[in-house]
Amino acid sequence: MTAPVIRGWCPGARRPMMAGDGLVLRVRPPLGELTPAQATGLADLAQLHGNGLIELTSRANLQLRGLSDDSHAPLIEALAELDLLDADAEVEARRNIVLDPFRPVGPDVQNRIAAGLMQGLALPEFAALPSKFGFVVDTGPQRQLAEISGDIRIEAGPAGLILRADGCPTGRLVPDAETAVRLALDLARWFTASGGVGSDGRGRMARHLGLGAILPTDLDGTHSPHAAAAAPVPGVQAGGLCLGAAFGLLPAPALRQLAASGAPVLRMTPWRMIFLPGVTATSVPEGMIQYPADPILRVQACTGSPGCPQANIATRDLARELAASLPPWARLHVSGCAKGCAQPGPADFTLLGGSGGFDLIRNGTAWDPPAHRALSLAQIHEILGG
Ligand code: SF4
Repeated sequence: MTAPVIRGWCPGARRPMMAGDGLVLRVRPPLGELTPAQATGLADLAQLHGNGLIELTSRANLQLRGLSDDSHAPLIEALAELDLLDADAEVEARRNIVLDPFRPVGPDVQNRIAAGLMQGLALPEFAALPSKFGFVVDTGPQRQLAEISGDIRIEAGPAGLILRADGCPTGRLVPDAETAVRLALDLARWFTASGGVGSDGRGRMARHLGLGAILPTDLDGTHSPHAAAAAPVPGVQAGGLCLGAAFGLLPAPALRQLAASGAPVLRMTPWRMIFLPGVTATSVPEGMIQYPADPILRVQACTGSPGCPQANIATRDLARELAASLPPWARLHVSGCAKGCAQPGPADFTLLGGSGGFDLIRNGTAWDPPAHRALSLAQIHEILGG
């Protein structure tokens, strides 16, 4: 089995990443939403230049895959016309902000905060922030994004807005959106100035604090944020409709269909679902998930082959086939190699592809020792069904 390679950066629109099936280009929609015209434009670009599939990422972004080198220049031009392009690759990489997708449409405090962060992070003084360093804006009456990775969190509690460094259970009150932005940027400055970024350019807030870094008193506090909301599921909720994409893959015609649903914007979520505010009934695109009980929601699969050069199997075809055999209590993770990109935590069953059959890990991660080695497909069906 080939040893997995760990990459310390994420692709962007201006800096795509080479994968087994061509270039991968990531689009970070400003404020985590697309207008219907932007969504239609992206669907057209995925079909014209890529493999016709759009990937929804766990940071509420979208990826086009299967692009050739030659297609990059016209794509950049088209993304600029759609207002989906940053000034340069560095600014794009730092604009790592996830917002509560269920916030109201229109003028909203969370939009103001995110817009202020975007403006501030474009300054060259933030160039040293690690590419995975992120901001979470989640100021509703319940925290929707409590489980979503982020280093600096702007949330709300009973007394008002709270700025919280990830890794601290509490944070400091801030009087308004503008102060939240100013202090969040101060917290990012403190992170780099206090040695949060390692010599390899990586670093996370919780780890930095866990290693003993002490927050300045004006960036720390004793206010707890609101309780976390239950994990969202597909279906009608929060005044709109949430639709899931199996393994986060959305065919271009499905995105085009969602753009025509009547929703004023399409909100990207970090749960591989798209939220359509104001829509409670629409014709659901073929293959999208609308019911919480759909077994495919309990299956995770990484890109696999041919998209990932490190993959030993076509993970998603296999995952789709096995979903029907999965017991109702179980979660399955199908991984193309031991890196386990699709699920960093344990699953009831983790299946790993190899040259001599499949390895099965029970209640563990892709890098744990397997309970069974070199299984055939028939044996896997038997174990899952049994
Ligand atoms: S886990 Fe899957 S996507 Fe990640 S490196 Fe391995 S094969 Fe590739």
